[in-house]
Formats: sequence, C-alpha cells, structure tokens
Amino acid sequence: MNGDARAAEAHQFQAEVAELLNLMVHSVYSETDVFLRELISNASDALDKVRYEAIARPEPLAGDDRLAIRLKPDAAAKTLTIADNGIGMDRQELIDNLGTVARSGTKAFLKGLKDAKEGLGLIGQFGVGFYSAFMVADRIEVTSRRAGGAETWVWTSAGGAGFDVAPASEEQARRVPRGTEIVLHLRTEAERYLQAFELERVIRTYSDHILFPIELVGDKDEARQVNAASALWQRAKSELKPDDYTQAYRTLAMAFDEPALTLHYKVEGRQAYAVLLFVPTTPPFDLADPARKGRVKLYVRRVYITDDADLLPAYLRFVRGVVDSEDLPLNLSREMLQNNPQVIQIRNGLASRVIGELESCAAKEPETWGKIWAAFGGVLKEGLYEDHERRGQLLALARFATTAGETPRSLRDYVASFKPNQTEIYYLVGEGAERLKANPKLEAARARGIEVLLLTDPIDAFWTMMPTEFDGKKLRSLSQGDVDFGELPLLDEAKAGDQAAAADEGAILTAVKEALGDKVAEVRASQRLTESAACLVAGDNGRDRELERLLARANRGSGAKPILELNMRHDLVKAVGSACGAGKDGEVADLAALLLDQAHILDGEVPPDPAAFAKRLNAFVVRGLTL
Ligand code: ADP
Ligand code: MG
Repeated sequence: MNGDARAAEAHQFQAEVAELLNLMVHSVYSETDVFLRELISNASDALDKVRYEAIARPEPLAGDDRLAIRLKPDAAAKTLTIADNGIGMDRQELIDNLGTVARSGTKAFLKGLKDAKEGLGLIGQFGVGFYSAFMVADRIEVTSRRAGGAETWVWTSAGGAGFDVAPASEEQARRVPRGTEIVLHLRTEAERYLQAFELERVIRTYSDHILFPIELVGDKDEARQVNAASALWQRAKSELKPDDYTQAYRTLAMAFDEPALTLHYKVEGRQAYAVLLFVPTTPPFDLADPARKGRVKLYVRRVYITDDADLLPAYLRFVRGVVDSEDLPLNLSREMLQNNPQVIQIRNGLASRVIGELESCAAKEPETWGKIWAAFGGVLKEGLYEDHERRGQLLALARFATTAGETPRSLRDYVASFKPNQTEIYYLVGEGAERLKANPKLEAARARGIEVLLLTDPIDAFWTMMPTEFDGKKLRSLSQGDVDFGELPLLDEAKAGDQAAAADEGAILTAVKEALGDKVAEVRASQRLTESAACLVAGDNGRDRELERLLARANRGSGAKPILELNMRHDLVKAVGSACGAGKDGEVADLAALLLDQAHILDGEVPPDPAAFAKRLNAFVVRGLTL
C-alpha cells in the first residue's frame, strides 16, 4: 500500500440491499440476537475458506495458524468488535459482497415480507446475513485483508443508500494482518450487547457448535473461549441430549425451528465417516429454487470442504447437516468430487439410510410423518420421477388427498379399502383438490364408492406418465384411456335402471364425430360418466390431459387430439339422436359443438371459441329444447 492516504470512494447499495436495510432499521423485530449468529457464521465460513486454501498453499497461514473468532466489547466507545483471521476480502470483494445480495431466494423473501403480516418473524428464519448487523448498529466499519494479499481496506456505512471504501490507515493495517474485523457502533437500544454475559448467552444459544474457538476479550485484553467448538457429530449418541441436537441443527442449518427428524450415525470399515442430518420442520426458503441445490456440508477430518458435493439426491434437498469423512483426501478439488468413487459410495449409502429413516418414521410416528410429508412431499415426489431404484419405497411413503375424506392416505390404506372386484388404483391429476372433486370423470367411480387419488402437485403430471404399480396394482388415470368399471357394482343399482341408455348409440357417436371432424380423435360411449353429458380424455398411449395442458402452456404440447366421451343416458346426448333421426344436420352440429365445449369447461379450460360457444348456448335457451 502506498503511504499517502487515498480518499474514500462512495458506493451505492444494490436496490434489494437498500430495501432490506430499510426494513431492518425500521423493524420492531425484537429478536435482534440473530445479528451475532450471522456475523459469527460469516467469520466461521471465512476460517473454513482459509483453511481449505491452505491445503494447497500454506504460506498465508504461516506465523498465524491458530484460527479463531474474537469478540471484544468496548463499553466506553459503545462498540462491539467481531474479528476473524480467515480468508478476508480485497477491495473489490468488499464492494461486491457487502453491497449486493447474491443469496438465492432474496427477492422472494422480500416479497414475502411485504405480503405477510407476520413478515418480520420471517427475518430470523431467512437469515439475512451481514446486513442484520444494522438492526443493532447505526454505523459499521469493516477492515479486511485478503489472505496473501498486500492491502488492507476499510468499508464503512451508516446504512441508508450506500457505503464508503478507503485504504486502511497504518494503524488499522497493523491491527488486521489477515482476515476481517467488524466494528459495530451500537444503537442505544442495543447496548446490552456490551455485556459479556449477554454475549455469552447468545453464543451458547446460536453458535455453540461453531468448530472454531469463539473468544470473548475482556478489558485487559484477556481472551476466554466461550463455545464448545467440538464437532458434535463425532461424539457418542449416548452423550448427547435432544437439546444438543436442536442447537447443532440451528447452527448448521441457520434455522430457528426444531428438527422434525434427526439422523446421527457413524460408518466404520473400508470407508469411515460420521453423519449428522436433520429434516427441518418448516420448509427452507430456497426449496423452490430451480437450482435444486443440496445443503449437506462435506467435511474431511473436521475440515470443511464444500456444500456442493451433492451428497444427497436433489429430491432430498430439504435435508440439512454434515458428513465428515475420515478417508477422503483433503486436497480433493471440488470439481473432482463428482466422480470420486469414495464420494459415490458415500452418496449411495446416505440416500438409502435417509430413505430408511423416513420409512421408519412413517411406520412408527405417523403423525410426524404426516407433517414432514405436508412440508416436503412435493419435493420427495420428484424422486418418483427421477429415482427408479427407490420408486417403490417413495410410493409407499407418499400420502395423497383422495375422494375418501380429508385425511391424506397412503397407497397401503387405499389398497386395503379396494371395492370387490377392484384391481386398479385410480387417480385424477389437476389443479386443486376442490376443482378435481367437481370433475365429471369422477362420477362413475363415485357411483361405485371407489376411492380416487386427487393429484394436485405440478410434478404429479410427470411421474404418473411412467407406468406405475403399487403392490402389483396398476395406477390408472381417470382422464386417460378406456376405464372399464363394468365388473364393479354400483352402490345403488336401482338408480342405474331408471335411465335407459340411448337406443341409437352407434348413430349418435358417428353423427357427433362427423360434426366435430378432427377436433377430436374419437367419440365414444363413456364408462366414467353418470351425471354429466360429456368429458374429454386422452388415448391409452397419449399423455395425461393435465400433462398435455401443462406442456401446451410452455408450447411443448404434442398437439394430440383428445377423445370425447359421451354419457349415453344423458338427455342432451339423446337429443342428438332425435335430431339425427329428423335429419336436422344443423342442430346435430350445434349440439355436438356444445357437448365438446362443456367438456372443455369441465376440465377447467376455456372453450376454443368462447364467442361461438356463448352464441350457440343463447340460441338454444331462447329457442327452448324440444325433446
Ligand atoms: P452469506 O453468508 O449468506 O453469503 P452474508 O450477508 O452473511 O451472506 O455475507 C455476504 C458475503 O460477505 C459472504 O458470502 C462473504 O463472501 C462476505 N463476508 C462476510 N463476512 C465475512 C468475513 N468475516 N470474512 C470474509 N468474508 C466475509
Ligand atoms: Mg452469512
């Protein structure tokens, strides 16, 4: 660094940061403790990074290899300093990292804060990172020097619209030879964070399991370690209490809820590793993120390596925690992790173990499993599509909304309440259980008391595409192919008798097909309908109607024509017969069009030509239908 002091440069915060700061400063959010958890976690990340870099290039650690986090309150100056001798930041990193938010889900989070009344409670859950320090400080100075770098830089901000970056004074540069020092000028309301016991309380609560020593520095510069700094996952299960696990979960996952499920074990033998995994209670914010990134941390002999080892399949990305290997080489590059045979072996073992744990939870604690499924079922179902090997296990774990009541049901429950002669599992895919319940395709099943699965997750249209069986019973869509309920008795046989089917079935079907031309692939008599006049279904080998609809929205539809099914007992269908018999071709055409349009509407679609539909309907109403 050259001796003459260069002037500070002013920078603007990215718009999202300014918005976040504004919320933070003006919030009445009372749980300000989180700021310390965030700063300590950043310091710990920085120490992890410098230790990782030092595996390949140990020079920057020379002379100062005791990695630690130090907290020093100064009652006179009303400042709290958090310092680490980690990786540090150069000038550009200070500008980029402390001026923007890169974190996925931030936009959605900010939107959620605005929309939700309880938004402020979400701040804690989300983990707002560095900026949360502005909840307790009205001015922040960050002095940092990149490990191996030659210059020390100082970032300062009083919140608001921006920050300054300037070269460090000689005194500052001497104080921070490597890593980062953050000085918080505490607001009056936050002065309790000057007290050692208060700091200790917060550290014990949120950061006890940080692997590096967290030291509290007193008036006379004497340092005292206040956290356990032990790798909890290396300890024996018998030594640990439920509360230890909860705290470890919160530190590792940066979460505030309780873990719904905890999995702690060690594998010995050819490959030795320790595993500590948690299933959260509340869905993490990035669950819907298209990157579908896992969050299981890989350690090698207590050294943090990466979050990116994809140790679990993407459909288990809600699981948080640590895998600590004894055998992997420390200098394994992140890129090489993908194909390393040892990592692949860990991956396989881990997925099986997690699924096994989910199975035992489902068997032994159905209530807990119900909650986990409600939170993560939509994600787990991706496995039905992706993980052929574990498909059967995942199907057994699945819970479905069905026509049989309000409680979600397993396929085992479903099969146990098969009707006499029932051999298949029926389902309907669509948007929203309520709308599905009103779908005419359910009529024939309902008339026979047959339970139908109501599949409403977007992923449902995809996994059901593949032939699926449970317990040797086929899953069958009620909106695809030819469903034959012939062998299954009606609940009320008398009712079936009072309405005879139209006598001239063949003539009606031919007439309607002729009138509709290639708008439909086929017109046939329905087994599904008992009350409604018509419905649209896909052919046996065609895609389910719901999937076709989803893909068509993305312009990826196959353009396959649906099959129109008619209820031969319905008056409107019989009217086609009469019109045919009387040679009224115009009326046949109008009736056929009306049947097709209402089938579209019953599927939740707009008729292809809404104006023509309205006109035709009006004409019929005004004229009156003479049957
Ligand atoms: P996150 O930790 O989720 O990335 P933060 O807002 O907590 O988000 O931090 C933003 C970034 O600032 C970090 O990703 C890191 O690059 C940098 N950073 C923050 N604190 C430190 C530190 N003590 N040492 C080095 N880099 C840091
Ligand atoms: Mg952070």
